[in-house]
Amino acid sequence: MKKIFVYLRSSVKLISLIAIAMVLIIAAVVFIYKPIYSVSLNGEFIGYSQDKSKLQKKVNDYIKQGDSENVAFVQLDNLPEYKLCLLKKGIVTNDDEIYEKIKSTGVTYYKYYAIALDTEEKLYVQNFTDAEAVVEQLKQKNSSNKDKVNIIEKYETELAEFKTVEDAVSNLYVEPAKKVTVAKTNTVRAGSATNNTSSKVVNIGINFIKPVSGTISSRYGSRWGTTHGGIDIAAPYGTPIKAAADGVVSKAGWNNGGYGYLVVVSHGNGVETYYGHCSSIAVAAGQKVSAGQVLSYVGSTGDSSGNHLHFEVRVNGVRQNPQNYVY
Ligand SMILES: [Zn+2]
Repeated sequence: MKKIFVYLRSSVKLISLIAIAMVLIIAAVVFIYKPIYSVSLNGEFIGYSQDKSKLQKKVNDYIKQGDSENVAFVQLDNLPEYKLCLLKKGIVTNDDEIYEKIKSTGVTYYKYYAIALDTEEKLYVQNFTDAEAVVEQLKQKNSSNKDKVNIIEKYETELAEFKTVEDAVSNLYVEPAKKVTVAKTNTVRAGSATNNTSSKVVNIGINFIKPVSGTISSRYGSRWGTTHGGIDIAAPYGTPIKAAADGVVSKAGWNNGGYGYLVVVSHGNGVETYYGHCSSIAVAAGQKVSAGQVLSYVGSTGDSSGNHLHFEVRVNGVRQNPQNYVY
């Protein structure tokens, strides 16, 4: 009797010892191993996550602000789904890979601002403060296009190339037109040789703006025994050269006669403007251009000894003094 009793007591002891051990083991397993989640997107398994809440937060942040500057929002077709997994041997978790997969299905919308003349977008800036500064500075400088300048808010899936405020202003600034005060008319024979120069003022009825601002390094007229058929305006290499008035590009390319890279714009009624020695050209023959539009960039190509714009005004092929109209 006593023996049985002892045996019973010791087996109760053993059972409780085993129970305590099991609880400890389970506790240890739960404590050491975090639960693992199987993640799927659009019904397709994309990996095992080790830290669901961290991954979810990363995805939420991505949707809210993307992963670069200027992101307006990110559009995801579907959110990932999580399913709790039993611990399996050899499961590899890859939260970073899952995140990249989710990201690759997202479409990022960027927000930035276009500066437009009327509705035509000319260039882009990164934020509204910059856009306002550009418009403000063009107004302060009394740019002749100041009433056409608009800010357009852009939501696009691709980023544009951004200009600084300074670059944007120098690109868009158009000198106020100088009124032609002398209205003397002159009959010009059509078909005159192109090397003809005129010393009379022809009223062309067009208000020109300055193609570049800078100092005039050589004027129209007699120079070193010959006649300089235009004016030279010294400006740094790469300065944008702007159309003096609305027109159509009639030539854009290399000229063997010493002009180097040359752009010619026809303004109608036999009036043409020439832009010589350019470093590069931004327009093509046949293209319509508006006053102030960038045609090319200052350089020293052709028969030139330094960076400058050689600017000519021709009426029916006869070269006029550009300073009768502008500068
Ligand atoms: Zn010249």
